[in-house]
Amino acid sequence: MVSTKESTDVIVIGSGIGGLTAAALLQERGFATVVFEKNRYPGGSCSSFQRDGYKFDAGASVFYGFGENGTSGTLNLHTRIFRKLGVDVHTIPDPVQIHYHLPNGFSIPACYDRHAFLGALAARFPHESEGIKKFYHELDEVNDILSSMPAGSLEDLTHLLSVGSANPLKTLALAMKSFRSMGKTARRYINDEELLHFIDIEAYSWAVQDAVSTPLVNAGICLADRHFGGINYPVGGSGAIPAALCKGIEKFGGRLCYQAEVTEILVDNGEARGVRMADGTEHYARAVISNATVWDTFNRLVTDSRYRVDEQRFLRAPSWFQLFLGVNAAVIPPGFDVHHVLVDDWKSYNQPGGTIYFSAPTILDPSLAPPGKHIVHVFVNGDFEQWEHFERGSSAYRAAKEEVAAAVISRTERILPGLSQAVELKVLATPLTHERYLNRYKGSYGPLLKPGQNILQKPQNTTPIKNLFAAGDSTVPGQGVIAVTYSGVSCASYIARKFGKPLDELQ
Ligand SMILES: Cc1cc2nc3c(=O)[nH]c(=O)nc-3n(C[C@H](O)[C@H](O)[C@H](O)COP(=O)(O)OP(=O)(O)OC[C@H]3O[C@@H](n4cnc5c(N)ncnc54)[C@H](O)[C@@H]3O)c2cc1C
Repeated sequence: MVSTKESTDVIVIGSGIGGLTAAALLQERGFATVVFEKNRYPGGSCSSFQRDGYKFDAGASVFYGFGENGTSGTLNLHTRIFRKLGVDVHTIPDPVQIHYHLPNGFSIPACYDRHAFLGALAARFPHESEGIKKFYHELDEVNDILSSMPAGSLEDLTHLLSVGSANPLKTLALAMKSFRSMGKTARRYINDEELLHFIDIEAYSWAVQDAVSTPLVNAGICLADRHFGGINYPVGGSGAIPAALCKGIEKFGGRLCYQAEVTEILVDNGEARGVRMADGTEHYARAVISNATVWDTFNRLVTDSRYRVDEQRFLRAPSWFQLFLGVNAAVIPPGFDVHHVLVDDWKSYNQPGGTIYFSAPTILDPSLAPPGKHIVHVFVNGDFEQWEHFERGSSAYRAAKEEVAAAVISRTERILPGLSQAVELKVLATPLTHERYLNRYKGSYGPLLKPGQNILQKPQNTTPIKNLFAAGDSTVPGQGVIAVTYSGVSCASYIARKFGKPLDELQ
């Protein structure tokens, strides 16, 4: 027999950063909120996990949004949200967003110091120095516009009117820019093929798409704010961010339920009423927020086939193959940067495994590893289809993982000679791991826009089902911790206004 539980204001399915942000802001505003998370801990792709004395970042290690007001306007969302919740997250400035190691011996750190970064780029491409200035200036303009506007919902007419009347010219400029692509903008100013490849990897490193497919507005946040708000690493690892959001939720009386998997969103007459859990219990709410991907929400949790989302509607980003390594500290030389991206050949940078991502967060926070050790997190993208036929736990699956890991480690030795000999702990994750741990359809990094699609064609927070909302990386603006934080803010803002208690502007 199905037992039923009491009703609440808002149910959030999933404790990724998008879901937790929405939950924390709504709870702080006085809406009774419950978060259901299938895992034992919060954070999804931004969680930490422990193994043999090491504390690994499950996914994200490069963080925006912790700048101070004076330097990064409204983009410093973490700073503002934690201030509102009255919880502290200590961070360490991370001086280099990414150190790129590219074909033809081209190596450049994208450092906090904008002048130094643009200077190094112009030194490599002196014939393009004017084009470089103009292109990156366009990104700064987007950053400047966004920094001066309060975060809110693009679906909320009251918010849009208020922003538009306070900043008419900037709003118009932003609207025009939202139709532009980063790569096409670069091509207005730059001709050099190698430099255009560099612009592509600048996009691909966080958007997993080339520059032409990447909206200028997204690039304006990621590639400009690194020089203003900067990159900062949370003390204690990535899991410090969800932990602080959870603390905020509980501080204001909200509830978090772990090992609590939602199996169905209850829809009645086109309206979401609540959720059914894996144990059969039902919970009811005025609003349901899904932090799952658009495919998991509409093709799995909503059972009514009229709401199905066609696979072809968006590009499905690939998944990941990750190596979580504990290594002897001596392998990392003094002055080594924390984050690196390696490309061996421009022909294959966007193919499965073509680009290597590398982070060693213990360079900033040594407490994440035992004394004398470092964490090395290396990952490449991976196709679900290449792994789906393996049976988990089988020797064939283990052998395939070891083979890919050995090849990635060997290629990484280009920047860290001796890495293979320095490994003392190795944890490997495939697209199957992603699908299983994060409940993400085919382990995907999420939906991507097709070339030519506008950023506003991505799902937003409202859905075709009344009182069912969405937050997380399936929604505008997209992937990345600061992006899903924005989606959580806009989702909470929309719901709060709809239910008559609008959120205050984040100060
Ligand atoms: C390898 C990797 C590296 C990355 N590096 C960076 C980086 O350096 N910087 C950066 O900014 N971003 C990075 N990202 C991206 C960033 O981590 C994600 O975009 C972001 O964390 C996604 O947040 P989300 O809110 O969409 O939720 P998710 O992280 O997808 O979490 C969703 C949560 O919901 C739970 N859930 C799902 N379905 C259910 C259900 N039915 N019932 C209960 N619970 C459910 C899941 O268990 C999960 O905990 C990286 C991602 C990966 C995978």
